[in-house]
Amino acid sequence: MSARILDGRSIAQEIRREVRLEVAELTKRTGSVPCLATVLVGNDPASTTYVRNKVRACEEVGIVSVRIDLPADLSQEALLHEIARLNRDPSVHAVLVQLPLPPHISERRVLEAVLPDKDVDGFHPSNLGGLLAGSPLFVASTPLGILELLTRSNVTIEGKHAVIVGWSVVVGKPTAFLLLQQQATVTICHIKTRDLGFHTRQADILVVAAGKPGLVTGSMVKEGAVVIDVGVNRLADGGIVGDVSFSEVAEKVSLITPVPGGVGPMTVAMLLKNTVQACRLACGAAGRHGVELVR
Ligand code: NAD
Repeated sequence: MSARILDGRSIAQEIRREVRLEVAELTKRTGSVPCLATVLVGNDPASTTYVRNKVRACEEVGIVSVRIDLPADLSQEALLHEIARLNRDPSVHAVLVQLPLPPHISERRVLEAVLPDKDVDGFHPSNLGGLLAGSPLFVASTPLGILELLTRSNVTIEGKHAVIVGWSVVVGKPTAFLLLQQQATVTICHIKTRDLGFHTRQADILVVAAGKPGLVTGSMVKEGAVVIDVGVNRLADGGIVGDVSFSEVAEKVSLITPVPGGVGPMTVAMLLKNTVQACRLACGAAGRHGVELVR
């Protein structure tokens, strides 16, 4: 293997240490302790694990978390009512609705109900539009984590060709705009893209977020590229793999994220950062100009 591993776990640990200091400083200065409310509807095992990890990560850095677990058959109206209550509660600075929601509930409708100032997931149209304009209050944690992973690993983004596989609101689109903001040339590929390999072979920076194990093979990457594998695919034996055939791709590229231990821990770390930012917003300790995207 020739690639260097982009160790998301240790970079995320570094960020968590920073966040812990920020929480202590903010609390001392303003008297406010950042508080994240997580809303989980139903008991999907993966979602339950994600929420548990987020709550544990909050506790580690001194963020208060309020866990709201609701039954799978909850009506959309009742869920919207719960979110409205959290929006009004001044002791709650950040609201996260764990996806996916049961099929009878419109995710779009629910995400639009979260107050943009508390929308630490960055999925509200106002924050998505803000990203397009270059000044969102919040950017989704996974794309933000990808950007942080690249910058903290000293990867130059400006002028590079970044190819993103996947165009979801959760990962692909915000990642594309974040990298564009850093003045990369960006190509977005998706399920209807013809000859995916033609595009991925052009990438200096390749971000893969498709949810398809083995989608990107060694012949689909350029020598020396930087590869970020966002995919999380659970195998029948309980193991977890990404979307990239790790061993053959690692032979050719210069930097690669492992799965697990790459993007996943960064997502949680950036959620903590966003929660501290939400608390700053609430207590007037941050301006409303949004995330500083141009470095
Ligand atoms: P999604 O299903 O909403 O979107 C998948 C995207 O991939 C779509 O845009 C689709 O067009 C594209 N795609 C699917 N098959 C393709 C193919 N054969 N060729 C080209 N494009 C293809 O998924 P998502 O929410 O964006 O998540 C993507 C993956 O990232 C999943 O495995 C998910 O579990 C993972 N994920 C990881 C984290 C993390 O923190 N590590 C966070 C969010 C999502």
